Amino acid sequence: MEIRIEHLTKDYGKTRALSDVSLTIQDGELFFLLGPSGCGKTTLLRSIGGFEQPTSGRIFLGGEDVAGKPVHERNTAMVFQGYALWPHLTVRENVAFGLEMQKLPKAEVTRRVDQALRDIQISELADRKPGQLSGGQQQRVALARTLVVHPGCLLLDEPLANLDAKLRRDMRLEIRRICKENHLTAIYVTHDRAEALSMADRLAIFRNGRIEQIGTPEDVYRHPVNAFVANFIGETNLREGTIAHFRADGSAVVETALGNLVCSTVPATRKPGEKVLLSMRPEAFRKCDAKEENSFTMTLRHIDYLGELADQIGETADGKLHKFFEINPRGRAVPGTVIRLSIAPEDIICLNDNG
Ligand code: ATP
Repeated sequence: MEIRIEHLTKDYGKTRALSDVSLTIQDGELFFLLGPSGCGKTTLLRSIGGFEQPTSGRIFLGGEDVAGKPVHERNTAMVFQGYALWPHLTVRENVAFGLEMQKLPKAEVTRRVDQALRDIQISELADRKPGQLSGGQQQRVALARTLVVHPGCLLLDEPLANLDAKLRRDMRLEIRRICKENHLTAIYVTHDRAEALSMADRLAIFRNGRIEQIGTPEDVYRHPVNAFVANFIGETNLREGTIAHFRADGSAVVETALGNLVCSTVPATRKPGEKVLLSMRPEAFRKCDAKEENSFTMTLRHIDYLGELADQIGETADGKLHKFFEINPRGRAVPGTVIRLSIAPEDIICLNDNG
């Protein structure tokens, strides 16, 4: 079911929760809403589900304008942060509830409920009541209950928030598999960027009720439009510079406090003399010995040794702190050590604006 949002604005009194949001989500797409607390993600989800009335703008579900349509006529199903399970029904009865409302044959209900309990790894809890479950188990029941009805559009508000790290990772794969196998259109709200990067077909980054960027995870991670997005979707080092000149291969030489950096992501429309803001991810650097192109030194100040990588912060010649992830460190570095780092021209991302 295609979802089209046109110029949606939602005010709660003086608070503008959504500000002129337009967005199209394709049929069968797994779409993520990502952004800091209070940026309007839940408000958008609740507006699509019919739990909130927009102040202005329109929502189309499967091509139909759903203004004024009640929740139960929208062919959407929402998994809330607060679960909302029936306390007097068992897990199996909770999961079966929606299918029984649809008056499906008993054998079909049993088959689909068994499958959902297996998919979400709660078969052994089938006969318990919600009061006998942990928060994470209740969360999984809420998920199974929603997935089992195969709604036209699935609305998920932090559905994995209460699970431990290992289960979260398993569930990511399961939810994505279930959505894809059943060709579900799903909108998924999260704070967890790893969840979004690993599961999403596309994602939108929100700030203050507006969309900053929409794209595939790779697009947004590799080509953030501004400093806010670059910082939100990952860690980065931001550096200002001035374009010195363009080389014959189209890359730009940018003067920075780290020295001249060759950068292949500066648009050809930019001019020598213009200021640019560069984003460099901590994992994009590698240690090198000799002074080579795009290299500089820093003095290590802080080292977090994590086994597969060392998360390091150093100080560069201009006194700024610089983050570097050393992959597969052979030992534990010592603060005060001077190291030389280099970066490839395509890993220096020229941002569109400083926002
Ligand atoms: P979180 O990640 O913390 O859940 P969010 O991005 O989902 O945040 P929303 O819950 O959509 O953000 O809230 C957006 C803004 O609207 C916030 O400033 C919030 O305080 C405000 N808001 C949300 N619901 C209401 C309400 N019922 N009444 C008044 N203000 C509200």
